[in-house]
Amino acid sequence: MYPRIDLHMHTRHSDGRNTIEEMIRAAEANDLEVIAITDHIFCPIKRPTWLDTAIREVNKAKENASLKVLLGVEITRPSIRDLTKKFPLPASIEHIVCEHPIPSGIKDKKVFLREVIEGIRHIASNDQVNVLAHPLNLGRSGVIGNFKDISKDVLEEVARILADSHVVMEIMSQMYWWYPYMDISTFTEAYTEFIRICKHHGVIFTIGSDAHSVCGVGNTYWSIKVLSRAGVTPDEIWIPDEGLRL
Ligand SMILES: [Zn+2]
Repeated sequence: MYPRIDLHMHTRHSDGRNTIEEMIRAAEANDLEVIAITDHIFCPIKRPTWLDTAIREVNKAKENASLKVLLGVEITRPSIRDLTKKFPLPASIEHIVCEHPIPSGIKDKKVFLREVIEGIRHIASNDQVNVLAHPLNLGRSGVIGNFKDISKDVLEEVARILADSHVVMEIMSQMYWWYPYMDISTFTEAYTEFIRICKHHGVIFTIGSDAHSVCGVGNTYWSIKVLSRAGVTPDEIWIPDEGLRL
């Protein structure tokens, strides 16, 4: 059985609809073992104003929670320059998820993917980042309409970068940005193949829902489906503080 974890979710501290307390209760109801609250920060070199309140709320909620709760952040659309700097985050931030930049104003697919790879390379070289959030979720870009337009060379390059770093790859269920352009089964098979390639290169995986309300907490069915189809076994899923349950 895959571990019941969800390491990526948002609350009212950024653009989520619910409080930290409500997200934790939803996680308990879904029998989750470990969650991370990861509200957005758009500029990692500035300490967010809501952080101290969130630290107090998580510490209070941990007293009664029946599961492990980590306080994290999601670095959203970082600039490459910011990724090269030390983030001024306190030690109580136990989990840092980072999205790769999605280039804007570039229409050429090759140039666009080059920039995406550069972003991933910078994230991989930043030792504060734990997890790369939903890699290659590019359906919203308007440039890549079909995941199959991403060549095997590009997928292998991403896999090698992640395998050579300490950064773990998140598998996230909410891939709906692709579905206006691709049917679900074709996309699912294409992303599964990407995971297979990553596994082959030695990438480590974890699971996050990217929930923005209590409704999405523990929404990991698709993630587990593609991990399982790609041959990633339950003991190959990374858990904070524990690593792999081998
Ligand atoms: Zn997110």
